[in-house]
Amino acid sequence: MNIKSRRLGGSKKVTIIGGGVGGLTLGAKLAQKDFDVTIYEKNSDCGGRCSRVHQDGYAFEQGAILYLFDDIYKRTFRELGESMDDHVKLIEHEDHHQVFFENDKFEYSNDRTRLAQEIERIEPCGNAREKLDNFCNECKCIEKFVTENVFYRTYDTIWQMLWFCIANLITNIKILWTALMYSMHSSVNRYFKNDLVCQALTLQSLYFGISPYTGSSLFSILVAYEIASGLKYPQKGMVSIVDALEAIAIKNGVKIQKNKGVDKILIDRSNKATGVKLDDGTIVSCDIVVSNADLTYTYNALLPPTKYAVELTKKDHVPSTITFFWGMDSRIKGLKSHNIFIPSDYRKLFEDIHDKKTIPDDPSIFIHIANRMDPDLAPDGKDALTVIVPIGEMAGLRGGFEKKVEKVKKKVIAKLEHKLGIKDFASKIVTDIQPETPDSWQNKFNCWGGTILGISHSLTNLLYFRPQQRCSEFSNVYFVGASTQPGAGVPLVMCSALSLVPKIEADLAKSKLRFQ
Ligand SMILES: Cc1cc2nc3c(=O)[nH]c(=O)nc-3n(C[C@H](O)[C@H](O)[C@H](O)COP(=O)(O)OP(=O)(O)OC[C@H]3O[C@@H](n4cnc5c(N)ncnc54)[C@H](O)[C@@H]3O)c2cc1C
Repeated sequence: MNIKSRRLGGSKKVTIIGGGVGGLTLGAKLAQKDFDVTIYEKNSDCGGRCSRVHQDGYAFEQGAILYLFDDIYKRTFRELGESMDDHVKLIEHEDHHQVFFENDKFEYSNDRTRLAQEIERIEPCGNAREKLDNFCNECKCIEKFVTENVFYRTYDTIWQMLWFCIANLITNIKILWTALMYSMHSSVNRYFKNDLVCQALTLQSLYFGISPYTGSSLFSILVAYEIASGLKYPQKGMVSIVDALEAIAIKNGVKIQKNKGVDKILIDRSNKATGVKLDDGTIVSCDIVVSNADLTYTYNALLPPTKYAVELTKKDHVPSTITFFWGMDSRIKGLKSHNIFIPSDYRKLFEDIHDKKTIPDDPSIFIHIANRMDPDLAPDGKDALTVIVPIGEMAGLRGGFEKKVEKVKKKVIAKLEHKLGIKDFASKIVTDIQPETPDSWQNKFNCWGGTILGISHSLTNLLYFRPQQRCSEFSNVYFVGASTQPGAGVPLVMCSALSLVPKIEADLAKSKLRFQ
């Protein structure tokens, strides 16, 4: 380890608010550099939006489900001086996805030839394989570009971003052009004309909470990633990543205080953070405060009022979900590990979610069955279904929500009965855990307005335009996690944590941080 950087951390006391993926990764890295780190987590478990709920032998993902961008996970563990293989076992699964349309079904496969045959079946064109290869090759170039310029780089000044634009105008003009001029949908539409094929190759926009009609074609990297790399799943679920990060953090010396919420970040008269006040009134003094809690919430609930706090509330946030957790009395025939049900009016689905910010009349349904990949996650011969229904932000729909959730549940069950030909599906649900709703996302994890991924990923919220990790109003305050640069999703949040460490070190070296 770099001795100089160890000394730099020295006795500096860091308080991290929240033990999500961002807080744990950052804590582990700072402790490795000899900072004295304490994480305060309001809940009884770490993980936040990447955690599990379980009951009666059934285990469900609460939040993150898909393990995407393998390289970032592995690189994060390497940066922490560990090998991911020593902590997490990955399970490969080939026929991972199936997409149910109104009158058809699309089978995803890791095998590109089979996938091309499936496309050819729906859109007979004679050269589906060639088109698919061209589409994937284009996305692969975009992925390389995004990994280098977005995931692993943050933009603190407008000049850094302008320089990025100028440099890439010369070297990556085609990618920039595609990103700016094409939405995900219009980009795929250059290769395939059939509506169902276009939908199958753009529905991944739901993962990022963007509309394929307005979201940049940059997000097609999700599709290309699934096709090129296939889907893997960590044994014991996504929470095994959190368990591993927590173990490494503790090994490195991080103190984790659970069931200890932070009520306020303490700021002195010179606008410098001096510590935090916990929910139980305890005052904790420290040199540096990093908030891993949702950024809009942090500005509006933990820090003194500022103009920027109000500005953040006006930014577009990623919509929400109603998530059901159903333990079934048997294995449900016709379902695979991932199942997506797309309504007949695809465009209206996104209008309802993004423009009207409401519960779609005919919602899309994502069903994840973790035990199909890791049998230990449900009792023998039974299924644990995590059923996710994306809905609008719902900011104005507090109260009376139970009835709406019940209505959505009935719609989901009716659709499953119809599509799978199962009678009385409801009677097969033997364990029914309290569903997640915008209210519960807010109450459990302090997600602002119950939105699940924080600030949206529209082009106006990326790069320099995405909130910074340094707090510009108060010194010694930093942010890590989904709403800061580079963006939301477990791998990006890990990138956010790793990119913050050199900033703190640089500020320390330049004595930008002010100490008593
Ligand atoms: C339904 C859903 C599906 C998703 N699917 C995927 C997916 O398939 N793949 C993927 O990669 N990502 C997915 N994501 C996104 C991913 O889970 C998140 O972007 C990521 O986990 C966020 O991590 P974070 O550390 O930024 O924040 P969080 O996970 O929100 O962590 C913040 C922590 O701070 C704690 N906290 C908040 N306020 C306080 C306070 N005042 N005091 C103390 N502690 C506090 C919270 O309890 C929480 O533990 C999904 C998210 C959701 C909700």
